[in-house]
Amino acid sequence: MPTTYKNPVYPYRRPPELDVQDVRHYPVVIVGAGPSGLTAAIDLAQQGISSIVLDDNNTVSVGSRAICFAKRTLEIMDRLGCAQPMLDKGVTWQHGRVFFQEREVYDFNLLPEEGHRVPAFINLQQYYLEEYLVNRADALSEQINLRWLNKVTAVDSQPSHTVVTVSTQDGDYRLSCDYLLVADGANSKIRDMLSLESKGQIFQDRFLIADVIMKAGFPTERWFWFDPPFHPNQSVLLHKQPDNVWRIDFQLGWDADPEEEKKEENIRPRVQAMLGADVEFELEWASVYTFRCRKMDNFIHNSVFFMGDAAHQVSPFGARGANGGAQGIDNLAWKLARVLKGEAPEALLDTYNTERQHGAKENILNSTRATDFITPKSRISRLFRDSVLELAEHYPFARSLVNSGRLSMPCRYEDSPLNGPDDVSLPAELRPGTPAKDAPIRLDGQHAWLLNQLGNRFVLLFDGRLPTGEAEARAPELAALLEAQPDLDLLVLGPASLARLPRTTLIEDADGLVSQRYGLSAGAAYLIRPDQHIAARWSECHRDAVVQAINRSLGKQLAPHSHAQGGRYVTA
Ligand SMILES: Cc1cc2nc3c(=O)[nH]c(=O)nc-3n(C[C@H](O)[C@H](O)[C@H](O)COP(=O)(O)OP(=O)(O)OC[C@H]3O[C@@H](n4cnc5c(N)ncnc54)[C@H](O)[C@@H]3O)c2cc1C
Repeated sequence: MPTTYKNPVYPYRRPPELDVQDVRHYPVVIVGAGPSGLTAAIDLAQQGISSIVLDDNNTVSVGSRAICFAKRTLEIMDRLGCAQPMLDKGVTWQHGRVFFQEREVYDFNLLPEEGHRVPAFINLQQYYLEEYLVNRADALSEQINLRWLNKVTAVDSQPSHTVVTVSTQDGDYRLSCDYLLVADGANSKIRDMLSLESKGQIFQDRFLIADVIMKAGFPTERWFWFDPPFHPNQSVLLHKQPDNVWRIDFQLGWDADPEEEKKEENIRPRVQAMLGADVEFELEWASVYTFRCRKMDNFIHNSVFFMGDAAHQVSPFGARGANGGAQGIDNLAWKLARVLKGEAPEALLDTYNTERQHGAKENILNSTRATDFITPKSRISRLFRDSVLELAEHYPFARSLVNSGRLSMPCRYEDSPLNGPDDVSLPAELRPGTPAKDAPIRLDGQHAWLLNQLGNRFVLLFDGRLPTGEAEARAPELAALLEAQPDLDLLVLGPASLARLPRTTLIEDADGLVSQRYGLSAGAAYLIRPDQHIAARWSECHRDAVVQAINRSLGKQLAPHSHAQGGRYVTA
């Protein structure tokens, strides 16, 4: 089969620990250089924390895996300096169509609203994402020590530290760390080594992935067929990827023989029946997959943190695997950085589990529901499914019941113990716990984006468009706030006089969308966490309230962690 992509081969370097007697200690060791492990290392590096990343391989992922990357993932990647190559290479899409038998039953638009830097979705092969992440990690090589062909073979997890044994072509060595981040994938060996489980459901169905290269006239949309004439009684999904590669997923049923189905002579007739007899294509990749939805009961074990597929796994419908993983790392990195620097109690880390259990449950619920709709388990479910599809063609109410995969959405931590005060007169969709929304702005007279001004630190978005003289009168209070909170920056809509404050950026509301989306009026403010989630908001904000909300966001009101150690910041 021809391939458009040549996997890079990354070099193995002899680890220095092989030549010393002592077990060296580091703040953070990460197992796995897939999307989750690399993202974690980059996020931590940007927040001043060094890590060692160990991977048992020496390349990015082989073959066809994730392709759909959601808006929130792109925003996270933008904060990490990785979004631009993804946007440049990826195929942007936001429309989808659903077909039942031979007719279209409805279409949808995931982002009907203008005024966002990144689109609703891009399609990009996972190997490109990983390559861009490796490039970014290499650019941060002072903080990220990326070790290829270093396989973790044993783990000794204690409440206060972890020791890992690493196997290389030159022999074995051991590393000790304050925190071990485990991102070794769905079949996590580290999870097994610690006798931990990921619990859930295996689905009895098989899907064939056929990636074909063709110059086709299909629009760049997500097309999903239920029971189409060219593949009766099953479903089919079509997505365009870069390099003229098209991903086709054929549902096969549980009884299908994976080895037979992967053979080119069996795939070609399926694809040809779908595309038409005269369409020329080359088969680039074929695999048959089954899937599961499962998660660990607790993502934290002593000072070992599970992330990505190692912590939670979903079926591909809804593209919630890597996208959910990115949101988990976004949640953990800022907390871990602050605990390691002694700026937050270790109890803050427990909220990685509480907030992300909520995210994982939401992802599992959505992908389980989609899977149940796509592969009905009984005659009655099938009847219901087909009736909904019939009705959807004519009646809008039935469209909300059609489920060909509820695509990955940003998680909202609305019940988080870290949330501060809410002012319910402000827009309901931006309640504390929700990720901040983008909007176009002007910065130094140039076009820019709101989200690019947020993240990595706490930010107070303050509407300083107060009556003449009042903004200046508020300046000493704001200056005192900034002095007392070194982790806080100020983002001001309003008068130039406030730009003289330290760590303060003045923005203009280019198209009025910041005011509109955030419901801003003079004196109002949003406190935004380092992961761009809203921590608290006020129609009229005052210094003490902001200080209390930052302390709350840092977990200072939480019960002490059972093995709390304060700031155990150890440099490598
Ligand atoms: C068919 C399919 C389609 C998908 N489509 C989508 C999609 O469209 N959108 C989406 O968001 N997600 C999708 N996913 C899910 C996505 O691929 C995963 O969620 C993602 O790869 C998880 O990343 P990870 O870093 O957690 O794990 P992995 O990608 O599995 O990476 C784990 C890494 O750990 C390394 N490793 C393992 N053991 C060790 C060890 N002992 N020592 C050192 N290193 C080790 C491995 O070599 C690997 O590099 C899809 C998955 C499949 C199978």
